[in-house]
Amino acid sequence: MDQILGQVLRNAVWERLDRLTDVANDADAPALISVARSELPRLAEGWRAILRVHEPDERGDCPTCSTRWHKCKAPCSVWQVAHDHLVAGGLAHFQHSRRYRRRRAESTPDETNTSTTPATRPTGRHALIGRPHR
Ligand SMILES: [Zn+2]
Repeated sequence: MDQILGQVLRNAVWERLDRLTDVANDADAPALISVARSELPRLAEGWRAILRVHEPDERGDCPTCSTRWHKCKAPCSVWQVAHDHLVAGGLAHFQHSRRYRRRRAESTPDETNTSTTPATRPTGRHALIGRPHR
């Protein structure tokens, strides 16, 4: 029974993440702003909750990822993923978007803020997890 509940819980979280990605890709600007205002703070708080339990202890080990027999030095994989996605990947996406908007502004200034520009597509996300580019 615990396995079933665990699977249901995991599926609900994966589906929620898929839904947020769909909204980011497909929603019009007003809907996107509304979702961003409600969901971004919740996502940030979710990351904080995850990262709190992976804060290094006084010996510099992650208390959550370490076992009695194997100590996991900080930063553990959770912190590395957080950095890759929230800092490194976020900056790469931001810089790509700025370059793209600048190029678009030089050629067609009226189309720089549409939600369907390639700059708003999740190219950085795919680059971070090692999938081939489409
Ligand atoms: Zn950890």
